[in-house]
Amino acid sequence: MTKTLDFLLSIDLNYIVIGLIAIFFSLEQLLKTQFSYKNRGRHLWQGFLFQIVFILLNIFWAILFVNAIEWLNQYEIGLFFILELPFWIKAVLGIAILDLSAYWFHRISHLVPIIWRFHRVHHSDTSMDSTTYFRAHPFEVYLWFGSATILASAIFGFDLSILGLYFLVLTLFQILGHSNLRFPNWIDSSFGLIITTPNLHKIHHDQDQYYTDSNFADIFILWDRIFGTYKHKAVDQIKFGLAEFEEEKKQTFWYLVRSPFFNSISQKK
Ligand SMILES: [Zn+2]
Ligand SMILES: [Zn+2]
Repeated sequence: MTKTLDFLLSIDLNYIVIGLIAIFFSLEQLLKTQFSYKNRGRHLWQGFLFQIVFILLNIFWAILFVNAIEWLNQYEIGLFFILELPFWIKAVLGIAILDLSAYWFHRISHLVPIIWRFHRVHHSDTSMDSTTYFRAHPFEVYLWFGSATILASAIFGFDLSILGLYFLVLTLFQILGHSNLRFPNWIDSSFGLIITTPNLHKIHHDQDQYYTDSNFADIFILWDRIFGTYKHKAVDQIKFGLAEFEEEKKQTFWYLVRSPFFNSISQKK
């Protein structure tokens, strides 16, 4: 088991992302898709541009991130260095804590107007598929959520294997959660009690703000249940995107990366 874990963690996350996107994108083409696409070719191309930018930035980010974590670990900074726990307990606890920290950072990004300007890029997609995973503003991903991960690691003392495992699970959940595939309701009524099933994340992408501000957790929907932000809606009734990004010209990579700096876009707040 440790060998399998070592092997998994030795693979560059970029390759895992590309592999997963290739699998889910193929499944979306082969299986009967759940939601209609608007301008499918264009959507794919714009998604591809986001993907290229992320893969390139990930290379620089990984160097910075690994150095920061190694520095923290070298000085044994964080709670986990005091507690003598078996690796698997540390790993499960670590994933849960990192997910809880992401839950709060995500919730704050819906609350604070300046952060929402960047986060709404992820919500702007009117046709969801596995490539929506990449549709996010780089400033938000690296500066906001990146800092959240480093901060949690500094407090709890996570090492690179715990963080690698977290990113692996997170990537799988995110690609699954955005994929344009039909998932049966029993998955929500069983696994959905604890984990964020694909249908539960889709509700977070509904245009109706009542639902946009719900189901914030990436992995454990339990956080939403505990902190009162869990909501449910039938997936077939979801209208994806944001009203202020409906126009086709606002669905391009170039428009979206500049959009946080436009005052003309109405703020929902
Ligand atoms: Zn959100
Ligand atoms: Zn999403």
